Order: sequence, then structure tokens, then C-alpha cells
Amino acid sequence: MVISLKYRLLDILACPICKKFPLKLIVFNETEYKYDNIDFSEDEILCEEFCGLHQKFLKDLGEVKLNCINCIRHEVVDGILICDKCGRWYPIIEEIPHMLPDELRNENEDKAFLKKFRDLIPRQVLDHGKPWNLSSQ
Ligand SMILES: [Zn+2]
Ligand SMILES: [Zn+2]
Repeated sequence: MVISLKYRLLDILACPICKKFPLKLIVFNETEYKYDNIDFSEDEILCEEFCGLHQKFLKDLGEVKLNCINCIRHEVVDGILICDKCGRWYPIIEEIPHMLPDELRNENEDKAFLKKFRDLIPRQVLDHGKPWNLSSQ
């Protein structure tokens, strides 16, 4: 399945390994879509359980959730998803989240990703992230 990652999707995505929900999202770059030709009502598209833009459960958001139209308009270009339960991390590259089981991941590509964005990635992931990290280098 190839899906581009709007903030809205944080309402849906769980860790593919341990099923933890929600995941933590750190955005490196994002873009904004205008949707000039789409007529959508703001009340229909609110996040339902967890809001990725606000990084909070809706029950804790109160009236702020009216801004969830931005969860559709804004799309993450590059970023990282972090599971704080099993310690895995998943890269988001050119709007696509790569959420693969360990055996299908490419260690060299993953480490290159960590190096490229190391200033924006939490120390915990760089040193202890699974399935690999940069601590051995
Ligand atoms: Zn939202
Ligand atoms: Zn996990």
C-alpha cells in the first residue's frame, strides 16, 4: 500500500510491529495543498481519535480541533515516525511513510536517512532506535 502522509493519517497509523497507537511524528519538511477544486465541509474531515498535527488525542484538544482542516491540507514531505513502545522508527521520504518489517528494511539506506537528518532526530533514536541506529559508528 502506498499512501502519502497527511497529518490526518496519524489518526489511523499504528506501529506495524507492536501495534502501538498513536506514533510520534517529527516533521522535517511539509507542503500545503490548496484543494481549490474540492468542496469539503470542515466538520466532515476532523480527526476522529488522534490528531497528528496537534499530536494530541481529540478528547484533550477541545475547540482547537476545528483547525483539523489543516490536517488534510498539510502533507509531510520528509519526517520520521517513532514508536515509543518497541523503539522502532520509520522514515517518511518524499511524502511516503516506509513502514516495513525489520527483515525487509535496508540498513544502509536507513542509516543514510538517520545521518542526513541527524540534527532533527531525537538522541534516543540516533543512539537506541530499532532495528538499527548510529551508536555503533
Ligand atoms: Zn487533526
Ligand atoms: Zn512499535
